[in-house]
Amino acid sequence: MKAQIIKIDPKHPDPKSIEEAGRILRGGGLVAFPTETVYGLGGDGLNPKSSDKIYQAKGRPSDNPLIVHIARMQDLSKVAAQIPEAALGLAEKFWPGPLTMIFPKTPVVPYETTGGLDSVAVRMPDHPAALALIRAAGGFVAAPSANRSGRPSPTLASHVAEDLGEEIDLILDGGMVGIGLESTIVDFTESPPVILRPGFVSREMLEQDLGNIRMDPGLDQTSEQKTPPKAPGMRYRHYAPKAPLTIVEGTADQVAEYLNVLARQEEQAGGLAGILACDETARLYQSGLVKSIGSRSSDQAIARHLYQALREFDQERVTCIYSEAFDTPQMGQAIMNRLRKAAGHCVIQAPDK
Ligand code: AMP
Ligand code: MG
Repeated sequence: MKAQIIKIDPKHPDPKSIEEAGRILRGGGLVAFPTETVYGLGGDGLNPKSSDKIYQAKGRPSDNPLIVHIARMQDLSKVAAQIPEAALGLAEKFWPGPLTMIFPKTPVVPYETTGGLDSVAVRMPDHPAALALIRAAGGFVAAPSANRSGRPSPTLASHVAEDLGEEIDLILDGGMVGIGLESTIVDFTESPPVILRPGFVSREMLEQDLGNIRMDPGLDQTSEQKTPPKAPGMRYRHYAPKAPLTIVEGTADQVAEYLNVLARQEEQAGGLAGILACDETARLYQSGLVKSIGSRSSDQAIARHLYQALREFDQERVTCIYSEAFDTPQMGQAIMNRLRKAAGHCVIQAPDK
């Protein structure tokens, strides 16, 4: 069965379309929908059968818990127990928005939704269509990113159709998402709280309110270190294009000079190298298929275009991909976290000539 695709105005979604999508969710079906971060694959978060279906559709390992999306502040305490004051403060400040918080779960949340854990991840997305859909579905929508497990998260409805078009009932097409990387995840079952996944809401922003906050030591691993990340989903190779991806560090000139050599070698061997660059450096490359994903002066553009560029490289049938490192000041932590995972932590240094 092919998913129906309904175009919606993301700011003022047609109530009939939302009602139809809500009906599907209440009936145990699956609906993909836009949020401000990436497209989500929604099911009724309180229905164990819906959560099972989500895992099946995505090919997601069943120990990788789903985020429960809510649309009303008063719904938080229905799914989450023991909510610290500091977390309520963050909810007031950042919700609706790209921040997910983890608490002990209440009994209404099925283990099928939490991947067998006694904790639940909750978020209120900052997107009128997503909020309307959650209300229409009864208030609790479990939604991981709407990609096949392991692939880059979808930032356009066409990415969802490409990955899951055969598996789900409906795709709400609200155009391109705003942020383009998944939410920041903060675990409040630990004290002090721990960042399990970096995102648009940065460590510095959280520190203003929380003072003390730790990064999960399992993040930003080189493959030699072996502390597993606490968020099960961060343990898998993830966000990955089909062609092998390598991150190349060094000054702009060093990286360009080195990649010009590597891309030429790839061409001579009958392949095609994709090069992920930025506005400032794109003209330095003479070989390979070069894609600029934005200017380093606006790392939000880089974050927003990253997954789309990785998917385009797949369609353009590149045989390998090289990326510059994007350790930019604001979103650099989140961008590099996703890029390193997409690269399976394959990072090389351009030689210093
Ligand atoms: P996605 O929905 O694809 O953005 O992935 C959700 C992320 O949240 C995954 O990395 C999960 O492992 C993580 N997550 C969700 N619930 C929990 C939880 N209760 N404890 C730890 N990590 C969680
Ligand atoms: Mg995901």
